[in-house]
Amino acid sequence: MVYLSLGSNLGDRFNFLQQGIDGLRDVAVDRQIQRSKIYETEPWGNIAQPNFLNCVVEFDYRGTPEALLSEIHEIETGTGRIRGSDSTVTQWMARTLDLDILVFNDVCINSEKLTIPHKLMTQRHFVLVPLAEIAPDLIIPGYLKSVRQCVDECQDICGLKIWKQ
Ligand code: AMP
Repeated sequence: MVYLSLGSNLGDRFNFLQQGIDGLRDVAVDRQIQRSKIYETEPWGNIAQPNFLNCVVEFDYRGTPEALLSEIHEIETGTGRIRGSDSTVTQWMARTLDLDILVFNDVCINSEKLTIPHKLMTQRHFVLVPLAEIAPDLIIPGYLKSVRQCVDECQDICGLKIWKQ
């Protein structure tokens, strides 16, 4: 099973999340995707930007992590997201759709292109709270802790509220 987080804070945020989920359906085994509730969250990092809508999805995937990364870049670009060098596109700026791979089966990778499990996932309530809805007992590879334990220990103070069931 793979777990991805989706976020949008630009334009028609719900529609962009929906486009992301539809795109992931095309790569998921049997087009089956489980999604958490959608949360509205305060921006993390660069706070001078609009609130996000965030959710987490779970699905079965048969390719490699690198193949999934290319798929998600294509889906992000399909929503009009501009991807560029650090001088033109800053980290944590507003985006139509951001897709992050959180967990990929029991894989641990730390390469130039990919860190799995996602390196900030245990510090972010907007990732852990929706993830705990669909996989509370999942042990995050390399952390030896369940998602539920990570939620309890997370110090993130950014606010989040349920936006849609
Ligand atoms: P972002 O700005 O969140 O879209 O991330 C930019 C880059 O982070 C991507 O182009 C990936 O090469 C890299 N990256 C590293 N780890 C991950 C991950 N677990 N999921 C998605 N992107 C990742």
